[in-house]
Amino acid sequence: MTRFPLPPGSTIGILGGGQLGRMLALAAARLGFEVVVLEPETDSPAGRVAGGQIVAGYDDDGALAELAGRCDVATFEFENVPAAALERLQALDVEVAPGPRALAFTQDRVEEKNFVRRVGAESVDFAPVDGLADLTAALERLGVPALLKTRREGYDGKGQVWIRDPAEAPAALAAIGSRPAILEARADFVRELSVIAARGRDGAVACWPVGENRHAGGVLRTTSAPAPGAAAVQEKAEAIARRVLEGLDYTGVLGVELFELSDGRLLVNEIAPRVHNTGHWTQDGCACDQFEQHLRAIAGWPLGPTQALHAVEMENLLGAEVERWREIAAEPDARLHLYGKGEPRPGRKMGHVNRIRREA
Ligand code: AMP
Repeated sequence: MTRFPLPPGSTIGILGGGQLGRMLALAAARLGFEVVVLEPETDSPAGRVAGGQIVAGYDDDGALAELAGRCDVATFEFENVPAAALERLQALDVEVAPGPRALAFTQDRVEEKNFVRRVGAESVDFAPVDGLADLTAALERLGVPALLKTRREGYDGKGQVWIRDPAEAPAALAAIGSRPAILEARADFVRELSVIAARGRDGAVACWPVGENRHAGGVLRTTSAPAPGAAAVQEKAEAIARRVLEGLDYTGVLGVELFELSDGRLLVNEIAPRVHNTGHWTQDGCACDQFEQHLRAIAGWPLGPTQALHAVEMENLLGAEVERWREIAAEPDARLHLYGKGEPRPGRKMGHVNRIRREA
């Protein structure tokens, strides 16, 4: 039986070796924790800063047993790790946070929207799509334009196609590989917001100020936080986050992406059961950032403060944009965060910059 709170010197296991794992590992080091990363790729962004790494697939039983033997609590940094891996770790008596249930709900867009509605939050209208007949009926009900998304394994706008005319249905299905899908009505939003929230082992909840997000091609470009005029939506966003956290009996940090409608309503677009790109601003805007908070929560520590000390504009550095590092480093109010990734492929998240605005 793991005893909480975990003292410094305890070991955090992280499934996934990307930039989120890297920033978790860096925050862990500052709190005196050890880190072991399990990740299939050698030379991963997180693996290179963690004290320990196991290079193996998430379904490798021997690797999971090794991780179980080396860590006091396990977590994950991206939501496409198989829920079975978390269940295996639990069977090996490892505390896993968040648990496999949160992962299962958020891995399937239909399950996710059903869950959102069950806990009393709103989402766009939608219909599950398992073939052309379903899609035709869904288009009739929801109208066009509508967005066809794969039910599973979509992120950053991948696996999504807009349908502007019902005649496009067969081509749209083919474009997403004829996989199980969801058709979503178009949200006529005035802006995209997100709320990053944490729940501790004792059930305490803490939310950061809502951020305003701009996307291009389905990929996040910038987050401004606190969002201009956020006071009007903060309470609503926090109420949604609390329902989600409690409905999942969640431990850790989670991101809820929201559409703000012109009448002030907030629709949940997506729940990310992990630290989130739209929460990176907390690294330079708050006394306790989302990475430290996640570790505090899963280790059973008290949650840290979430108020903004500064307003921050976070900009993602995609692909070759990372080559601007020298000029960004010369900006007095810019804090540069680079992920140590080799090849700046187009669209690849290479780093981000937090620009501190003095007024909070
Ligand atoms: P997602 O992968 O679901 O987060 O979608 C990526 C982006 O596509 C969102 O941030 C929105 O800009 C846009 N989007 C997703 N779903 C909808 C929708 N139902 N209506 C309008 N825009 C959407």
